Amino acid sequence: MNVMDIFETMDYGPAPESPNLAQAWIAEHQPFGLFINNRWTAPANGQYIESINPATSKPLARVAAATSADVDAAVAAARAAFEMWSKTAGHTRARYLYAIARHIQKHARLLAVLESLDNGKSIRETRDIDIPLVARHFYYHAGWAQLMASELPGYEPVGVVGQIIPWNFPLLMLAWKIAPALAMGNTVVLKPARYTPLTALKFAEIMQEVGLPPGVVNILTGEASQVGEALVRHPGVNKIAFTGSTEVGRNIRRATAGSGKKLSLELGGKSPFIVFDDADLDSVVEGIVDAIWFNQGQVCCAGSRLLVQENIADRLIHKLRERMEKLRVGDSLDKAIDIGAIVSPGQLKEIQRLVQTGVDEGAEMWQPSWACPTDGYFFPPTLFTNVSPATTIAQVEIFGPVLVAMTFRTPSEAVALANNTRYGLAASVWSDNINLALDVAPKLKAGSVWVNCTNLFDASSGFGGYRESGFGREGGKEGLYEYVHPAWGNHTAVDTSANGHVTAQFLELPLTDGDHDLDDDNGYNEATPYDKLAAPLPTIDRTPKLFIGGKQARPDSGYSRFVYDPAQQVIGEVGEGNRKDIRNAVESAHAASGWAANSTHNRAQILFYIAENLAIRAEEFARRIVEQTGREMADAASEVEASISRLFSYAAWADKYEGTVHRPPLRGVTLAMKEPIGVIGITCPDEYPLLGFISLAAPAIAMGNTVVVVPSPQSPLSATDCYQVFETSDLPGGVVNIVTGDREMLAQVLADHDDVDAMWYFGTAEGSQRVEFASAGNMKRTWVDSGRARNWLDAAQGESAEFLREATQIKNIWVPYGE
Ligand code: NAD
Ligand code: MN
Repeated sequence: MNVMDIFETMDYGPAPESPNLAQAWIAEHQPFGLFINNRWTAPANGQYIESINPATSKPLARVAAATSADVDAAVAAARAAFEMWSKTAGHTRARYLYAIARHIQKHARLLAVLESLDNGKSIRETRDIDIPLVARHFYYHAGWAQLMASELPGYEPVGVVGQIIPWNFPLLMLAWKIAPALAMGNTVVLKPARYTPLTALKFAEIMQEVGLPPGVVNILTGEASQVGEALVRHPGVNKIAFTGSTEVGRNIRRATAGSGKKLSLELGGKSPFIVFDDADLDSVVEGIVDAIWFNQGQVCCAGSRLLVQENIADRLIHKLRERMEKLRVGDSLDKAIDIGAIVSPGQLKEIQRLVQTGVDEGAEMWQPSWACPTDGYFFPPTLFTNVSPATTIAQVEIFGPVLVAMTFRTPSEAVALANNTRYGLAASVWSDNINLALDVAPKLKAGSVWVNCTNLFDASSGFGGYRESGFGREGGKEGLYEYVHPAWGNHTAVDTSANGHVTAQFLELPLTDGDHDLDDDNGYNEATPYDKLAAPLPTIDRTPKLFIGGKQARPDSGYSRFVYDPAQQVIGEVGEGNRKDIRNAVESAHAASGWAANSTHNRAQILFYIAENLAIRAEEFARRIVEQTGREMADAASEVEASISRLFSYAAWADKYEGTVHRPPLRGVTLAMKEPIGVIGITCPDEYPLLGFISLAAPAIAMGNTVVVVPSPQSPLSATDCYQVFETSDLPGGVVNIVTGDREMLAQVLADHDDVDAMWYFGTAEGSQRVEFASAGNMKRTWVDSGRARNWLDAAQGESAEFLREATQIKNIWVPYGE
């Protein structure tokens, strides 16, 4: 095409970026080795694999294929480096992270070109989005390294972290993983995706340039079945951070269950893009282009479901098709294209298959009139209308440039449609009515909500999923907690004693506040008028039932179980709960979800009231503890006091555990809201029958969750005695449900249940493993004790921000401003 032709047609001419420098760099280094201990190392079995350029389908570079022997070597290197790196001053780590950020910027163009060549994404995107965000991520986390000691007191790095990333944002996902890990003092073994290893290898070279101590970052290229799986199972790895598909995430959850490894999962999505009739449609059209055609639609949070208010649907679809007609697909290095190549032939086939399914399902497919280039892996922007919400293309993540459109009439219908998915990664809301947008945003089940914008990312604002989109956040202060744990956890002895009777060591620990000396003179005298009667009256049987939906309910089984004192004397009976009772309790807990919408003031009031009513009956509760555990009265009384104090703490926190306003570098703010998770299943420890129960139930409900609690099977009566306390404290029915019975069996039912959103398990190591494994079904969040005892009396262990964090999930609502 010559200039005259261009002038005549007003068409774009090609504006190619040169691949020469990138190709020279590849030629100089290939075949690439593995990066272990800051050295390039040949793979143990001598195997190499090829990475291709999907825009040409030609080979690009040969890289090492690691196997489990290489994983062993890399983990050993990271383990050794951890000893030193974890003890460095925050300032030292800040200096390294800062240096990495500077070097990223210095090599920005080479990184951008390499990324485009290897992945097929457009150079405009790698140059203007991926690489700048990578640098920003390292700068931002240099700051957290500097501030760790003052801002995260009492926390320590986790250890060696295994990190597994996908191909869609190769270097950006690396940055999201490595920056917080190093900032918090961990060391890393990272596996790039099979199709896109090159920028990670250039990054390794940058590690050498900045002189990062050997072993702090190790990078292993290769196949998932060789490297990924070995890393996940490696006993020397303390945490796995994974971004990828929900299916693989599920496997990893199962594989790490019970290992004590920390886990964060950033998984797939099917995110709604909601357009109300008062939105500015020109902006909406550009928003849609960004939502679903950015990165060829290979974006976990892509706005792949367009939900349009019915009265403007025709107008919007018409405008959108006109815009699609003008999109350009082509070589990733051409600056005049909008959409690049699909990453691999396999991914292309999968997109084609799902599009065919959409056609077969009866939806109406539309594509622009022009044809895609044929020498690489390309797919045109595609729009489906007339889609019904239950069909495959409306539910399954396509991970390609394919948009499905549906209509709604009212805001509540929009919310229902938006939440009609198992995922919960992101959502985008378009309306010129900010009241409407901010009313809808909190109702959407998604970790990120963009108001009148889409696909905005920044290091300051946490990113991550609700529901089957995974758990954990990357970015923001919230993301740091994925790479630390409370320091006391390292120093607590493991208690796997089967009966779980509290050990003397714990009883001797000082109380949280004050000592509570109780002796015979202060009202705790035995006095039974009955023994004066000629014939003793039979005691009135008070076998507590279950507590479901605010009512005392008989167990479905019709059976009761005995409760024994430490001398094996029967002291009472409780209901033998079963699967059906748990299901009823979960249903009641769901029905009580209005609790989350109660004002925080109101939730605080009710917690105070519970504390007040418990205090009135303190003596009776203390006796009950003595009866069940054989402990001293004074000691039992102090457990009751500690429980009352704990209720006060969470009443206090109910209206004070606030969100944050992040300050990303744009005209606008990100509101990081701490939202309840939903229905939480809880099993209580055997130590401290009352305090263990209150310490878990109180923070969960204070944050707006509803709970199904299984009390200590050994000493359940302290929890069942609370029924009347709850009934007299204005606690709405269904907020706390209690099912007594066999902890392990009931925990299994809760962990398997798809309508339970999180599971807190306190019990045994084996039980922890079973709960983590079962949780993979609906990817519920878990919090387990791995059989390690916790000192419930100690404020740091029994009551802390850890409980509040486990009871909440963070939603980042992006609100840009300015005309
Ligand atoms: P994938 O799950 O197939 O692979 C992701 C990574 O895991 C790759 O490095 C792969 O080699 C590795 N892997 C595969 N099987 C493994 C196993 N059994 N054990 C250990 N590691 C294994 O996903 P993908 O196709 O590379 O990426 C696309 C998916 O990633 C999409 O579903 C997308 O939604 C998701 N994604 C999510 C986010 C997020 O932040 N939530 C970001 C990007 C992509
Ligand atoms: Mn490639």
